[in-house]
Amino acid sequence: MHQVAVFSSKQYDQVFFQRFNQDNKLSFSFFDTKLTANTVELAKDFDAVCIFVNDQADKATLTQLKSFGIQTIALRCAGFNNIDMPTAKSLGMNICRVPEYSPEAVAEHTVGLMLTLSRKFHKAYNRIREDNFALDGLMGFTLHGKTVGIIGTGNIGLATIKILVGFGCKILCLDPEPNDAAIALGCQYVNQEQLFKSSDIISLHCPLLPATHHIINQDTLALVKPTAMLINTSRGGLIDSKAVIDALKSKHLGYLGIDVYELESNLFFENLSGEIMQDDIFARLSTFPNVLITGHQGFFTEEALSTIAQTTIDNLTKLLNDERIESEFLLYPQI
Ligand code: NAD
Repeated sequence: MHQVAVFSSKQYDQVFFQRFNQDNKLSFSFFDTKLTANTVELAKDFDAVCIFVNDQADKATLTQLKSFGIQTIALRCAGFNNIDMPTAKSLGMNICRVPEYSPEAVAEHTVGLMLTLSRKFHKAYNRIREDNFALDGLMGFTLHGKTVGIIGTGNIGLATIKILVGFGCKILCLDPEPNDAAIALGCQYVNQEQLFKSSDIISLHCPLLPATHHIINQDTLALVKPTAMLINTSRGGLIDSKAVIDALKSKHLGYLGIDVYELESNLFFENLSGEIMQDDIFARLSTFPNVLITGHQGFFTEEALSTIAQTTIDNLTKLLNDERIESEFLLYPQI
């Protein structure tokens, strides 16, 4: 039976992987540590590794894996910015992922952030627990009729658009590859400047690439309406956090809702409540009353975790048995 080392694993990963590995196609060993060049030794004697969003498959790590005879890496997520793809290609590795496990899960979380910020549910919840029924400070704004700029109109962007069209929002889009389904829903593709200037809400759904790194920066923030809401459920590196802090402090940005953060790998998915926060940027961000942060939980639904486990087991079984795999699941080699 093929042996797979699962890195950055949590209790829920074990539950879902075991549930969908009933015929014991694979043997999983679960490590709670992240995969990095310092921890890669743990993968020795395995046939494949399974990694998540904050594992680091950089050059040194990949080279070590290859030297252990491992050439199969299964991402149990959609994004792959944490893999050094040129190195993976040069080493002839097989890299698979779960490209679409539940775009609706992330889209619903995205709209949840928008509604929580606009209607202040988080503040209302705490007030009612203290029998404070006053409404002062809870005034929100109506989503109906607002202009929402969607950056990246792939699976999650489109799922978000579908919900927002239902709310009666006007949708502006930015994507080098326009999506016919978005156009059919009445969305308008515009250039970056138009999107930033005209949107009441801007929501990021593009991958983290060199071209999209810090797409939200001092210059682009200077274009947005001072009342605008910025939402990021994609990848933290899309936002220059220091520039956003400056915009929030100077009241040039109305709201910020993030499920991802540039330096999240030092923080997210762990209980650090007894520790001293060492990240001053994160600490500052979390002080603003108009900022809402969740810890990369957009994917975290029963349905999405089921699809992730099922697809990952299927991908690994096929790759490790030299069987054909659908091209959409394969990052490299491309077929
Ligand atoms: P996708 O590949 O279906 O869509 C991405 C879209 O971005 C594509 O249409 C692409 O053309 C577009 N794009 C590429 N470069 C762009 C640019 N420079 N400007 C504007 N658009 C550009 O991906 P998806 O499934 O919709 O996922 C989007 C992102 O969401 C992923 O990359 C991942 O980082 C993130 N994600 C987050 C969570 C979470 O839990 N928060 C879960 C899954 C995915």
